Amino acid sequence: MLELESFTEAVARRNPGEKEYQQAVREVAEKVIPFVHEHPRYLKAAVLERLVEPDRIIVFRVAWEDAEGNVQVNRGFRVQHSNAIGPYKGGLRFDPSVNLSVLKFLAFEQVLKNSLTTLPIGGAKGGSDFDPKGKSDREVMHFCHAYMTEMRRYIGKDVDVPAGDIGVGPREIGYLFGQFKRISNEFTGAMTGKGPAFGGSLIRTEATGYGCVYFAREMLDTRGEVLEGKQCAVSGAGNVALFAAEKLIEFGARVVTLSDRSGLLHVEGGIDGDQLAAIRRVKLDQRASLGDYADDAGLDFRSDADPWQVPCDAAFPCATQNEISEADAEGLLTGGCELVVEGANMPATAGAAHAFERSGILYGPGKAANAGGVAISGLEMTQNAMRLTWTRDEVDRRLQAIMRRIHEQCVEHGAEDGRTNYVKGANIGGFVKVADAMVAYGVM
Ligand code: NDP
Repeated sequence: MLELESFTEAVARRNPGEKEYQQAVREVAEKVIPFVHEHPRYLKAAVLERLVEPDRIIVFRVAWEDAEGNVQVNRGFRVQHSNAIGPYKGGLRFDPSVNLSVLKFLAFEQVLKNSLTTLPIGGAKGGSDFDPKGKSDREVMHFCHAYMTEMRRYIGKDVDVPAGDIGVGPREIGYLFGQFKRISNEFTGAMTGKGPAFGGSLIRTEATGYGCVYFAREMLDTRGEVLEGKQCAVSGAGNVALFAAEKLIEFGARVVTLSDRSGLLHVEGGIDGDQLAAIRRVKLDQRASLGDYADDAGLDFRSDADPWQVPCDAAFPCATQNEISEADAEGLLTGGCELVVEGANMPATAGAAHAFERSGILYGPGKAANAGGVAISGLEMTQNAMRLTWTRDEVDRRLQAIMRRIHEQCVEHGAEDGRTNYVKGANIGGFVKVADAMVAYGVM
């Protein structure tokens, strides 16, 4: 017998103070515990109890020299959570907020997400408390080379394949992969998100944002609705947010917000394609703030606001974890929001997630909705192994097919009171394949 409260209390005791990890485990356990009781082979094999214990966690020192020649010390991490169904796979995050709790929650979610993609990839996550903001390219290069010099021991195309996440974009991936290639003396797909000139897949940069919108399209289709004409609040102004916004605009939706750490950009009539292109230059190329862009463009900008107070039909949280509080969620629901699709990982607090679930609106959790990025990473591994490059159209077609398959699994496993509970569907759909593999291997 597995009981939610005693199970989550035991997890909290073993992972003290790790509130993000405890939150992620509880969200999964709420859905998976009833399921394992209906399928006692998983209960008998203690699959869930084993799955909340990462395979291993690697923590290491990263020492590097800044522009003035001062020695700086950061901490590097890699959480290799589960390789039950394939090599470890998951992004690297470089941000001062990085700690073990955040990376363990991300790695745990990644296990289920990667399983949902239908590709043979396990789950991991890593990163560092290093802050690339305000650093010169040279300093970022020194840091990345130092980070990879240690990480190299633990990764490889059939072992563990890292990619990007917050603070790790094309520049960082270039430095990291370059150092991997140099010290291992091999050119293999040991990292994804690479530049197209050196083994990267087309559409990888766009994949998470695009995938999220493809997933939203599938969700709306179940109710005979379309994105065209919908007013959408998007948070973030990074990789995921900007490409979600691009696809939403292409589908005829009105993107009325974007945000970053400097505040909220609100464009009542909807951001147009030219504005989005300018924002992309400011955020991704110049690494400046949305506030700077809004000042120059004469647009409405508030430094102390976020998108959740803006009335919308659909919300796409694409910035970071726990960015929607329960009060924000209630506000969105009262304002008429009928679709929430998570581009970020766990952007809703537990209270917010429960409010969305209770309301009966269409609520797509990150592990399903933002799986497009890792799915194309999986396809990058395939292309690298085959030593060929698929066209943009080919990769986009596969991305759409994968998002449709993820949606189908949510529908298959998420039936509840005559509708689909996507949180239940994603958690159980992701769990089953990993659990079957774990049962097959025996106790380990
Ligand atoms: P980026 O670093 O490219 O962008 C993150 C954006 O969110 C930035 O605009 C950043 O602001 C903003 N942001 C981050 N933290 C905060 C905060 N505490 N308050 C306000 N704004 C914040 O990251 P990604 O777009 O890659 O990732 C965004 C989310 O999507 C993360 O949860 C990530 O784990 C998830 N994800 C990413 C995938 C990918 O392929 N990249 C795949 C699946 C999920 P600023 O610009 O000021 O720093």
